[in-house]
Amino acid sequence: MLIGAHVSASGGLYNAVSNGEEIGAQCIQIFVGSPRTWKTPTLGEKVLSRYREALANSEVVQDAVVHASYLINLGSSDPDLFERSKDLLISTVDVACAIEAYGVVLHLGSHKGHGLDAVEAQLADVFEEVGERLPRSSRTKLLLENTAGAGGTIGGSLEEVERILQLGAKRARVGLCIDTQHIFAYGYDLRNPEDRGRTIDKLSRFLDAVDCVHLNDSKSKCGGLHDRHENLGEGEIGEDALAAFLGASIFANSLVFLEVPGDGSGPRSSDVEAAKRLLTASG
Ligand SMILES: [Zn+2]
Ligand SMILES: [Zn+2]
Repeated sequence: MLIGAHVSASGGLYNAVSNGEEIGAQCIQIFVGSPRTWKTPTLGEKVLSRYREALANSEVVQDAVVHASYLINLGSSDPDLFERSKDLLISTVDVACAIEAYGVVLHLGSHKGHGLDAVEAQLADVFEEVGERLPRSSRTKLLLENTAGAGGTIGGSLEEVERILQLGAKRARVGLCIDTQHIFAYGYDLRNPEDRGRTIDKLSRFLDAVDCVHLNDSKSKCGGLHDRHENLGEGEIGEDALAAFLGASIFANSLVFLEVPGDGSGPRSSDVEAAKRLLTASG
């Protein structure tokens, strides 16, 4: 299990490595473009190799994932928006492959209440294209993130997550990213052993291992559906529940990323320390 955080890559992708080192992150999650614009910058070979070199030389940071833009909506019924979303995802996948990232973490978007059946065909289409795009020689995979559920976002329930993973696995290299805040906000209570055990059983039924974890406490109540992250131990879930949940064997080899607010500018070294303490307690 590597423990790290989402870090800024502004000013150059390679800065993300030193930003990770500064807070003691063993793995980093980055945006390769602004998460709120449609543009993925085409990164020149110079930038890419400088990044690869920084990562190879780092004694702290050992692995990385890319988080795709929040604008992507693969469940959109607007053909234009759907095509733009697919293009942006594919250009993000290309960058992730070029920097040999472990994966691309993706929010699928929203079906706006129409249900998964309504968008299954277009998701299959995207997985197909991404699958063709991922070089066999690369290890990069698509990491589908579970959602908190507000606004008809796809992948809130574990039943939906299972169906999407099955849909994807036939067409591309896919894996799962479990966000602890999202799963709790959707309604999976991690605080008592019975509910926690049921959730772990559900996951274990369709999955041997969870590739990636977003380790966050929650400002939202259980079942509140809001995507509102909180610092570890300062939210509704609490450190003990998080430690007990992530002690399950399906998380033994996960890459763990903090996406907590810190003091307003993201995860600090004290947050990474807290995560390491918490996960040592869980193991
Ligand atoms: Zn995310
Ligand atoms: Zn997340």
